[in-house]
Amino acid sequence: MSDSIFTKIKNKEIAGTIVYEDDQCFAIEDINPQAPIHILIIPHKEIAKISDTSPEDKDLLGHLLYVSKKIADKYDLDDNYRLIINNGAGAGQSVFHIHVHLMGGRSLDWPPG
Ligand code: 5GP
Repeated sequence: MSDSIFTKIKNKEIAGTIVYEDDQCFAIEDINPQAPIHILIIPHKEIAKISDTSPEDKDLLGHLLYVSKKIADKYDLDDNYRLIINNGAGAGQSVFHIHVHLMGGRSLDWPPG
């Protein structure tokens, strides 16, 4: 399998803005932001989607959420932000390498549609 577009950004094979990296994950600015702050938090491990995870991924999934919180703090989003994970094409997933969307910097309606 070839690397995902996100892994290629991490490896600097294609352009992108990396805003965070640790031993388990990295984060980039979304190329088509839907809010003033729109960051994607992505595991180094290339799992296609949440429904493909297994018990061994539990800590990694928790780590992604905790890093999302840390990045929200860094951008001073206070308690006004949204985390989204689309699972499967029918739910709007277009890149098949798990990622958490962190969106903030504007008011966010609910339900999202
Ligand atoms: P999904 O639809 O899979 O939940 O989200 C994929 C996200 O990746 C979209 O918000 C889309 O704008 C973003 N994206 C797709 N291709 C690229 C790219 O080449 N660079 C960056 N930075 N983001 C991308």
